[in-house]
Amino acid sequence: MKEDYYDILGVDRNASIAEIKKAYRKKAIKYHPDKNPGDSEAEAMFKKAAEAYEVLGNEQKRAQYDRYGHEAFSGGGFGGGGMNMDDIFSQFGDIFGGGFGGGFGGFGGQPTSRGSNLRLKLTLDLEDIVEGTEKKIKVKRKVTAPGTTFKMCPTCNGRGQVTRITNTILGRMQTSSPCTTCSGSGKVIDQKPEEADANGQIVREEVVKIKIPAGVEDGMQLKVTGKGNEGPAEGVPGDLIVLIAVKEHPYLAREGKNLHYDLYVSFSEAALGAMKDIETVSGKVRIKIDPGVQSGKILRLRGKGVPSLNSFTKGDLLVHVNVWTPKTLTKEQRAFFEKMLPDDNFQPNPEKNDKSFFEKVKDMFTQ
Ligand SMILES: [Zn+2]
Repeated sequence: MKEDYYDILGVDRNASIAEIKKAYRKKAIKYHPDKNPGDSEAEAMFKKAAEAYEVLGNEQKRAQYDRYGHEAFSGGGFGGGGMNMDDIFSQFGDIFGGGFGGGFGGFGGQPTSRGSNLRLKLTLDLEDIVEGTEKKIKVKRKVTAPGTTFKMCPTCNGRGQVTRITNTILGRMQTSSPCTTCSGSGKVIDQKPEEADANGQIVREEVVKIKIPAGVEDGMQLKVTGKGNEGPAEGVPGDLIVLIAVKEHPYLAREGKNLHYDLYVSFSEAALGAMKDIETVSGKVRIKIDPGVQSGKILRLRGKGVPSLNSFTKGDLLVHVNVWTPKTLTKEQRAFFEKMLPDDNFQPNPEKNDKSFFEKVKDMFTQ
């Protein structure tokens, strides 16, 4: 049988969005699983109508449907097919104006509760970030107290939801909402020790191991699944959210994958050349400064930066050379420099490869 979304909803190909919406409402009510319990044919029609509305109710998808035909959609190619019940009921908010969204009985999973998330801030050194590390931190989390026992919730008989019939403009509809007695868990406390709270929980300090991947940045959040508060009534635990803060390094400034280091050399070292020690995250590295180095030169130490979080590449350490000008001179020094003042060798004579600072910065970012 050749199917067509227009046929499924029973509307003309030129139908307006309002007409399509109205037609879908009718079908949704007619084939609603609550009205047709155990009728798999009705359920199939209910799903088909939702699928048809998902496409025809959206101007863009409808235009594609008109253009490419049903085959292209039923295969899921344009996201038409394969709607599950959750999708369908979340679509209901649009159609019925809320109140029919979630909480539909019979299609959810096991009734359960969920514990709240815990948040904490973890301050790291630059060294931790470059190498990646594992930290052990103390966390105070709510857990079910030893000795707390549960029994089935008498209000909802363990379903976690209560169902009621309401009269709406669309006729009698069955709606479900989370049980307020047990907060949707389906269980209530039978016995609990004195020190436990109303949920039968106590606060316990635990040591949680957190793996810090190399390359994390200040302000990032890491999630440790299941290490938040335990869910009341043996529910699912929440997560532990770890906010990363990075301590400022005394010598190194980070910029993405790269690290920057300001190196100061004296007049004499700049003129004569020198060997200098550079702070890196993996200890000191000795580098050679060529005679005649200019202030502002950038030396690149490949791979001495920060690993990137998403790839296996590593950034570089960029050493910025600053020539230190003496702030005071002795009489002899003053005489020497005065003598050199007219000397050709001391005249600025920038060559092509003595790029300006701005050109160098531009290069750095294009590499
Ligand atoms: Zn209940």
